Amino acid sequence: MAGEPQADCLFCKIVAGEVPATIVRETETTVAFRDINPQAPTHVLVIPKVHYPDAATLAAAEPQVIADILRESREVAVEDKVEDRGYRVVFNTGAGAGQTVFHAHLHVLSGRGLQWPPG
Ligand code: AMP
Ligand code: ZN
Repeated sequence: MAGEPQADCLFCKIVAGEVPATIVRETETTVAFRDINPQAPTHVLVIPKVHYPDAATLAAAEPQVIADILRESREVAVEDKVEDRGYRVVFNTGAGAGQTVFHAHLHVLSGRGLQWPPG
């Protein structure tokens, strides 16, 4: 069923506590944890507890949850004290955009100069 945990999904395993992660925040619908290969001093992933392969399918099926993720991105920025300097939020959507884990996730990046446009 759409949204159900997938046995072979790394981020579903993090939600279930089966794979360790450095969890920053958790809500009823989301988990935020530090990226294992950080690209900036603040690099946190905010994910839905429900499984959808990417932000587009999540937004179509459960728009409230993607709103929860965006709200949480601000809480992460506050927690890491980067709200004032600014931060970037990114949903890589599709392999061609660099998506490698097919459970929707929002990158929250800050703490260094960020180029625009990104590579
Ligand atoms: P993307 O390339 O947008 O799909 O992003 C996937 C992100 O997940 C990458 O930045 C990885 O470094 C990160 N990642 C992969 N495995 C883990 C893990 N076990 N814990 C935390 N972050 C991870
Ligand atoms: Zn999943």
